[in-house]
Amino acid sequence: MARDSSFTTALNVPSDVLEVMGLLESAGYPSFLVGGCVRDALLGRQAMDYDLATPALVDELKKILVDYRIIDTGSAYGTVTLLTGQRELEVTTFRADGSYSDSRHPDSVSFSTSIEDDLSRRDFTVNAVAYSPTQGWADPFGGRADLEAGVLRAVGNAGQRLQEDALRIMRALRLAATLGLRVDPGLSKALHDNKGLLQNISPERISAELMRLLSAENDQLLPVLLEYGEVLAVPIPEIGAMIGLDQRSPWHTYDVWEHTVRALVAVSPDDLVVRLTLLLHDIGKPPTFTIDETGRGHFYAHAPLGAEIARDRLQALRFDKRTVQQAYELIRSHFAPIAPDTVLRWLRRLGEQQLRRLFAVKIGDMCAHIDSAVISGLPPILDCLDALDEAISSRACYSLGQLAVKGGDLIAIGVEPGPRLGALLEALLDTVVEDGQPNDYQRLMAAARQLKDLDLGAPKEADAADHIEYTSGKQEA
Ligand code: ATP
Ligand code: MG
Repeated sequence: MARDSSFTTALNVPSDVLEVMGLLESAGYPSFLVGGCVRDALLGRQAMDYDLATPALVDELKKILVDYRIIDTGSAYGTVTLLTGQRELEVTTFRADGSYSDSRHPDSVSFSTSIEDDLSRRDFTVNAVAYSPTQGWADPFGGRADLEAGVLRAVGNAGQRLQEDALRIMRALRLAATLGLRVDPGLSKALHDNKGLLQNISPERISAELMRLLSAENDQLLPVLLEYGEVLAVPIPEIGAMIGLDQRSPWHTYDVWEHTVRALVAVSPDDLVVRLTLLLHDIGKPPTFTIDETGRGHFYAHAPLGAEIARDRLQALRFDKRTVQQAYELIRSHFAPIAPDTVLRWLRRLGEQQLRRLFAVKIGDMCAHIDSAVISGLPPILDCLDALDEAISSRACYSLGQLAVKGGDLIAIGVEPGPRLGALLEALLDTVVEDGQPNDYQRLMAAARQLKDLDLGAPKEADAADHIEYTSGKQEA
C-alpha cells in the first residue's frame, strides 16, 4: 500500500471524520475512507457522504466509539451509523460476501481483516478504492487508473457481479451518466445480457436510481439513455415500443425513443419532475400510431392516453402521489396549444410552478424536432414564458385567492354557503380570466348581484375542452 499524504489534503476530510479514524487507529484498528467519497474526491468533486471501512467488529466499534450516538443500521451486515454531531458517518466492518441466489442479497456475509476482501465485494472498480491518511491507498482493481481513463468497469466478472445484485445494473447507468464515465465493453455487454434481472429489484430502489440517473448532466446522460433504452424498458416496458418507432412525420428525424431522450437532455437537470415528464411524455405514441393514405404517421390523442399510461407506470414504480399527479398533468397538457393570451387561463388551471414546468417540457419537446420546426416553434413558447413572467410580476389575478371578492362578501349579500357559493366565485373569476375584466371589488360585487339568482349550470368540464385540442390533429407534429 502506497502512502500519499497529499491526498489527505485533496480529500479535505472533515475533522470529525478524522477524529473517528484516529480513535479506531489508537485502539489498534486501521480504518479507510472508501467508496463514493474517495471516488468523488479523485474526480475533484466535493464528497456527499463519508463511509469508513475497518476490521473492527460492530461490538468492538461500539466499545471504542462509546462517546458517540450509534444507530444500528445493519449490524448483521457489519454496518453502524455514527452521529458525529456534524454528520451521519457509516462505519462498516470489512466484509466478504457469500454467494447470492436472489439477485438481491448475499446469502451470507463473513467479516474479514483484509481491506482487499472488502474491496472485492464492491460493484465497480471506481467504487473499490480505499484511502487512509496513515495506511495509504488500497486499490487492488485499478480503480484510480479507470477513473483517470474515464472508464466504468465491474470488479471481477461483470455478468456474475450483476447476477449477484441486479440493482448494480441501474447503478451502472447512473454512475456512467452522473460521473461521465464510458462503460467498459465487458460491462456493457453484461448490462444488456442481464437486464431481465432488474425484475427482481424492488420498484422503490429502481425509481431512486432512475431519478439519480435523470439528474445527470445533459451531454453525459444522452449516450447512456440512447445505448441502454432496452435496459430501462425492463422496469418501464412501454419504452420498448418507443425504441425504433419511425414517426413518419415531416417534423421528426428521430424515432420516438431518440426524440424522447433528446427532449429530456435539452432541459436542465434542476427540476427532475420536468425530466421525468419528458422521459414519459410520448409514452402514448406507440398505442395511438396510425399511418394515413399519404404514408404520414399520426398520434391522435397521444397526450391524454399517455398521461394515463404514465400515471399507471409511475404508480407501479411507487413514485409518491404528488410526483405522479404532476407528471400526469404535464403529460396530458404537453401537446395543448398555448398562446400568450391564454396564459392566465393556464395559470388558473395549473398554478405557476406547474405552468413553468409545462413550458420547460414544451421547450425540451420542441428542441428534439427537426431544425426548421425548432426555429419556428420555439419563439411562440418563449412569448408565452414572457407573458407568464409579466402576469406574475404585475400580480395578475388568476386564482380565487387573488380575487378582490371573497366568500364572505357573497354571504353578506345573501348567498348560502355551499357549492353554489363556490360556483359563483368561479364565475366571477371567469369574468377576470376569460373576459379580461378588471379584478375590482365594486365591479365584481355588481356582477355577483346579477349572477346570484341565475342558474350557473354544472361546473365546466375542463377535460372535455382539452380533448378537443388534443384530437384536432392539427398539431401532432
Ligand atoms: P453515492 O453516495 O454517490 O450514491 P456511493 O458509491 O457512495 O455513491 P453508496 O450507495 O453510498 O454509493 O455506497 C457506498 C459504496 O458501497 C459504493 O461506493 C460501493 O463501493 C459499495 N456499494 C454500494 N452499493 C453496492 C452494491 N449494490 N453492490 C456492491 N457494492 C455496492
Ligand atoms: Mg455514498
